[in-house]
Amino acid sequence: MEEKAKIKFMNTLGRKIEIFVPIDESKIKMYTCGPTVYSEAHIGNMRAYIFSDIVRRVLEYGKYKVKQVMNITDVGHLTSDADEGEDKLQKAAIEQKTTAWDISKRYTAQFLDDTSKLNIQPVHVLCKATDHIPEQISLIKKLEQKGFTYLTSDGVYYDTSKFPRYGDLAKLDVEGLQAGKRIKIREKRNKTDFALWKFSKPGEKRDMEWISPWGKGFPGWHIECSAMSMKYLGKTFDIHTGGIDHIPIHHTNEIAQSEGATGSGKFVNYWLHHDFLISKKEKISKSTGGLLTLTELEQKGFMPIAYRYFVLTAHYRKPLDFSLENLENAQNSYDRLKNISNEIRDDGKTNISYLKKFKRAINNDLNTPKALAVIWGLLRDEKAKGKYQTIKEMDRVLGLDILKKEEMKIPKKVQRMVEEREKARKNKDWKKADNVRDQILDSGFIIEDILDGQRLKKR
Ligand code: AMP
Ligand code: ZN
Repeated sequence: MEEKAKIKFMNTLGRKIEIFVPIDESKIKMYTCGPTVYSEAHIGNMRAYIFSDIVRRVLEYGKYKVKQVMNITDVGHLTSDADEGEDKLQKAAIEQKTTAWDISKRYTAQFLDDTSKLNIQPVHVLCKATDHIPEQISLIKKLEQKGFTYLTSDGVYYDTSKFPRYGDLAKLDVEGLQAGKRIKIREKRNKTDFALWKFSKPGEKRDMEWISPWGKGFPGWHIECSAMSMKYLGKTFDIHTGGIDHIPIHHTNEIAQSEGATGSGKFVNYWLHHDFLISKKEKISKSTGGLLTLTELEQKGFMPIAYRYFVLTAHYRKPLDFSLENLENAQNSYDRLKNISNEIRDDGKTNISYLKKFKRAINNDLNTPKALAVIWGLLRDEKAKGKYQTIKEMDRVLGLDILKKEEMKIPKKVQRMVEEREKARKNKDWKKADNVRDQILDSGFIIEDILDGQRLKKR
């Protein structure tokens, strides 16, 4: 068997940098909390998936095989984390005069489109909550048999006081939380209790509801991740990723559900969480009420991949401040990186010394800013050999298409002008050739004369 890389991660469980030791060396099992598909994801959400993509690429570059599972939340995620409020998809369906099914379909497609533009590798299993209702019901039944649940007038709840390790991941002060009276608990026994199954309200018309042993309704948000991750990855798996916002509630509840139901110890060995994309300046998007969407970035003339570059300039455990100015700087650096790299001649060699530095950076808790600095160091090092092959290899991890030649889209009008100029040159009509060159320039292209003809470049 090939020797695997030694990779270190910050494990939220214990808050320590740890050497990654897989359960089964031949296949790493990894789960990523996916999107709630009620609207177009904003670029903050996309940081989550660029992050999980980097985790996976680092493992794969380190010679591990990875099975990655991601959920699509298409039911049960309510507008309030306290198990109250409306179902986000149903709410969007009413607002947009359509069904929750249609909303789910539309925004799942949009999400996959965005991830592909960002060079995020497709996951091996993409699973929807609504396709796994029997699995969720069966998990709730198991919890019921083990005495973890109770009924209220609006659903089946998890009694967190029955799970002694509750809150360990988040280092929650559960007793402090119980003592304070800030959170309304209504019929809940404890403040931290959460819904496993919610009943459809009498008279409420839901697009998504199912019959269960407890009554007609729909699953709570957290149960889908326990049910689907364990279905595809087993009772204990290697890595679980998500944003830091998930630590105190969603992931804490996933642990309580999964470990409560299986009773067989640890649910996940390594919990990896990324920090947020923030915007210190004013909120700049109308559609998400805060951060922009990838579509909006494109409309402003940015390349999606430049956003990926921007995300990689910060360590994943640090907040990243977004502004159009910061993104513009990243886009400029990315363009320069690409332009310089594309001038390099391939000498067929690899630069071991720079590659070593690069590996050290990525294997040390995914230090992408350092990895980018190594690439820049290599490009600036006039004496260094093997630049082309080394950058090609580094880009397997970064996924920035550094050496990919962009196909230039030439409008028909410009194409005709190029032909006209070629004819004028042949006829030695230099005045006309110069005129056409100026027209081409006005259309956003530069035409250069080379030995055997002309060469067109973007302005
Ligand atoms: P949601 O679609 O709301 O379920 O969230 C999807 C993912 O986006 C979760 O992993 C969140 O942690 C993450 N997320 C939400 N807002 C941000 C943000 N501003 N920056 C980074 N990640 C975020
Ligand atoms: Zn989840």
